[in-house]
Amino acid sequence: MSRLLKGGEVAAAINQRSVDKIEELRKEGIAATLAIVRVGERPDDLSYERSAMKRASALGIEVRNEVMAQDVSAEIFYEKIKELNSDDSVHGILLLRPLPWHLNEEKARNMIAEEKDVDGCSDISLSSLLTGAKRGFVPCTAQSVIEILDHYGIETSGKMAVVVGRSLVIGKPVSLLLLNRNATVTTCHSRTQDIQAETLKADIVIAAIGKAEFFGREYFREGQTVIDVGMNYSEEKGRFCGDVCFEEAEPLVESITPVPGGVGSVTTAVLMSHVVQAAERQARKEK
Ligand code: NAP
Repeated sequence: MSRLLKGGEVAAAINQRSVDKIEELRKEGIAATLAIVRVGERPDDLSYERSAMKRASALGIEVRNEVMAQDVSAEIFYEKIKELNSDDSVHGILLLRPLPWHLNEEKARNMIAEEKDVDGCSDISLSSLLTGAKRGFVPCTAQSVIEILDHYGIETSGKMAVVVGRSLVIGKPVSLLLLNRNATVTTCHSRTQDIQAETLKADIVIAAIGKAEFFGREYFREGQTVIDVGMNYSEEKGRFCGDVCFEEAEPLVESITPVPGGVGSVTTAVLMSHVVQAAERQARKEK
């Protein structure tokens, strides 16, 4: 029986640190504020927006909802981002994506001021992972993986880590974060010849491919830590499940995150901690 790496516990610890800092900021007359920019009514966006608002309200973070119609003109949309960038009462900007086809997502994510890029989506934030420059923020889900490892005291230095997935939001940043923490990192993707041979060598396996229960027992062995980033709706099971077949991996490995209740539970806590950090950084700059 393996150790269950529950995200709720990690989120609670992050939230507690945020609450203390929010209180400090309030004493200085600063209300940490997140602007959520949504275009249209995509159900995924609405659900993420709702959970972010709920978490923010529980912590005492203000939320400003900027909602635009699906066919908003590019001019009005970009103007809104510029306006939020220059509004001193807004500390963080969360742009819900994907955007409708007529808006240029690359341009939009790079328009967000680096000090307000709490979702870590701009090129400045992402390239800082490569250079070590302390600019912008780490993408929230990627940071959640590291928060889980840290919370449960799982050593990364000198360990073999295999990350399956190389997206800009998860796979690549997680690989760089682990490398920066002295792990020996292998990044696998859809063209990797023998993923199983790689995962079996690893001390830490990060699964982030978006394929329901792709990784069965043959990918794992005893002593491993498995972090399942996948969040897939299984028609067959009628519920969300990860990229790892939990029932098969769990009896074999040393520790594993559940889905749901693992990485996904940590993401909004990390986002809120970034809003608090952004407010602190901006307050220090003003002094
Ligand atoms: P993505 O952009 O679709 O990227 C998927 C990556 O997986 C790609 O690099 C792809 O390789 C690789 N891949 C796909 N099929 C593969 C296969 N059969 N073998 C090996 N590699 C394969 O997805 P994403 O945005 O990174 O998200 C990944 C998962 O995380 C999804 O399930 C998503 O729902 C979940 N997610 C969870 C959270 C959370 O808070 N828990 C947040 C965001 C996303 P190529 O590059 O070669 O195409």
